[in-house]
Amino acid sequence: MSNRYSRHELIPGWKQKSLSDAKVIIFGLGALGNEVARILAMSGIENFILCDPDRVEESNLSRTILFRHSDLGRFKVEAAADALRQLNPSVRVDVRSQLLIHGVGLGELRDASLILSCLDSRSARLQLTGRCQLVKALYVDGGTHAWGGEVRPYLDADGPCYGCSLSPEDRSIADVPWSCLDTRPENPLGAAVPSSALVGTWMGMIAIRFLMDMPYPIGTLSIDSSRGTTVVIPQIRDPECPLHTSIYNAIKIDVGFQDTIQKLRDALPKSSEPLAWEPVQQSVECYHCGFQETRWGLPAVESCPQCQKPLRPRTTLELVEVPGNIKLEELGIPPREILTVRIGDSWQWFELKE
Ligand SMILES: [Zn+2]
Ligand SMILES: [Zn+2]
Repeated sequence: MSNRYSRHELIPGWKQKSLSDAKVIIFGLGALGNEVARILAMSGIENFILCDPDRVEESNLSRTILFRHSDLGRFKVEAAADALRQLNPSVRVDVRSQLLIHGVGLGELRDASLILSCLDSRSARLQLTGRCQLVKALYVDGGTHAWGGEVRPYLDADGPCYGCSLSPEDRSIADVPWSCLDTRPENPLGAAVPSSALVGTWMGMIAIRFLMDMPYPIGTLSIDSSRGTTVVIPQIRDPECPLHTSIYNAIKIDVGFQDTIQKLRDALPKSSEPLAWEPVQQSVECYHCGFQETRWGLPAVESCPQCQKPLRPRTTLELVEVPGNIKLEELGIPPREILTVRIGDSWQWFELKE
């Protein structure tokens, strides 16, 4: 009798159940994320969270196995979720069409079996690294260039991280790694279709071997198509790297991301001052004509209703200042986020529910 996985099961040491029990989060559903998601779903990973704020554009179609012409304009995560369910009907996908810090909470990162970082900018990678380090989440990062790329497994919570590989100058764009970063993609770089496939295949290979307790390469894989080589370069833990502080003992509270600030206040101890990880907008103002308006939410690019010049947002990290009727999700706080709360002179962490 053959089943979907009977050829896998002929492989010594293959553990299908370890794959079907795993929970995997993929950040970035571009060419690389498509390839990784395809391989993991076909291997029998069934639980995914996909996070990417972008929509499918025509220039994606030459490089992305999961998207079709009819997907143009849809969120990448929605189109990818449909395609994965067609590849493997057992797959369950939770889609997050937001930036990574607004899409996936720290509690979700901590509880994932593995995180795959298929992001296209250094600042977004650093932001994800900072968040993974906060909760000691394990991740594999991949990046492509024209004719190759790199795969960086970070599968030891106390080992080196992506930040360790950067110089202090490179890291300085992110002194506070989880905050105030411009995580928009840098100028797009070209990568040949087989480059994304090669790098994505290595990421998939390391992911399934890790999940099935098989040995995987320790170090950064550097893939060079002109030489036909994949070289493993050791990763070194930089004692100066600032990304190694972590959250311990987060207290679970009965407040979700769809609840209001008032409900959050009521659930926290007296005189708590909860903080957002990313600045939230409290008002907008125009430096040209003086227009001003209170507008709580995510900072957005908008133009002045009076003179059409760009409005400047005023932001804060202090959630005590937010009116009680505003919902946490309106401020970009994701499901199962862990919030830092100042109580007098000390700090405590509180974890939101689903
Ligand atoms: Zn580091
Ligand atoms: Zn104005």
